[in-house]
Amino acid sequence: MPDVLVLVDHDGERVHQSTYELLAAARRLGDPVAVLVGTPGTATRLKDSLARHGATGVHVAESPQAVEFVGSPTVDALYLAVRTVGPAAVLVSATTDGKEVAGRLAARLDTGLLIDAVDLEPSGEVTQLAFGGSYTVRSEVTHGIPVIAVRPGSFEPEEHPVPAVEYELPVPPIDPAASARVTARRAPLAGARPALTEASVVVSGGRGVAGADGFKVVEELADALGGAVGASRAAVDAGYYPHQYQVGQTGKSVSPQLYIALGISGAIQHLAGMQTSKTIVAVNKDPEAPVFGVSDYGVVGDLFSVAPQLTREVAARRGGS
Ligand code: FAD
Repeated sequence: MPDVLVLVDHDGERVHQSTYELLAAARRLGDPVAVLVGTPGTATRLKDSLARHGATGVHVAESPQAVEFVGSPTVDALYLAVRTVGPAAVLVSATTDGKEVAGRLAARLDTGLLIDAVDLEPSGEVTQLAFGGSYTVRSEVTHGIPVIAVRPGSFEPEEHPVPAVEYELPVPPIDPAASARVTARRAPLAGARPALTEASVVVSGGRGVAGADGFKVVEELADALGGAVGASRAAVDAGYYPHQYQVGQTGKSVSPQLYIALGISGAIQHLAGMQTSKTIVAVNKDPEAPVFGVSDYGVVGDLFSVAPQLTREVAARRGGS
């Protein structure tokens, strides 16, 4: 079986769920081999969980520069790993950072790039979302080693324990003059809720929520379901909710089991970030709202009446109040 390189998404302490999804996807094409870029000591913490999810090898590039420069250490490490391994494909998560890395790597390798993949065939054929998710197309790279950015949520993570061999990637130091340097970091606002791109339930609010206070209704429903909170750009631009929670073309792409849209009209740029969700529920007082066109279930009504009823019902069925 050929090797398939998987770029590991992590926060230094924990491998992100999207990586386990990539490892499961990679098994369709060959033997998954992880590429881990981080500060010294990262591999010691993360290697076992990668092996438990099927990584037969872990190529490790550790350096203090890994978090000092934007993208470049990762692109350098992946490039070196490709040259070392000669893989059948390279898989990265289709996050904002992942897409940048994928594009830069494909340019450096002079090879084909497929973005927003949602399925992979053993033949190498890829199902891809195009034009913000309005079309599903089948594509294949015909030139060089395919670099494929896979949408988080497209594959089920699977435990598949194997012994993983660790290899050191001797990545050369970054040229500061040719790379963007990180000058400051601010921790994302985090709470007890799951991360937006990893949650199996997302409840999002739009302009219809009508203010920052209105988001309490959205949060309460998300909490009853154990889900994450998202927002439309109109809600974010109006200051109702922080930008890190924006879903859509210029926000995060999500693909949960359940997506609930409260007071969101369903503009194409919002749909681009959520229409691959497995089940979509919309609450909108306008029966003509385009969001109903992509919804599995729609409620025409006032979200301030419908959402609290839903929250109470969910809590009651889960044994709450
Ligand atoms: P609106 O379109 O104003 O819809 C509000 C809805 O709430 C209406 O349908 C209304 O009927 C309903 N409503 C009002 N009150 C209630 C109530 N009490 N109960 C129930 N329903 C109610 N948008 C994104 O979301 N994400 C993006 O990433 C994004 N990127 C963009 C990129 C570009 C280049 C551009 C040009 C636009 C982008 N947009 C994005 C903006 C997008 O075009 C829309 O403007 C935006 O999604 C609208 O947000 P909304 O649905 O919350 O607001």
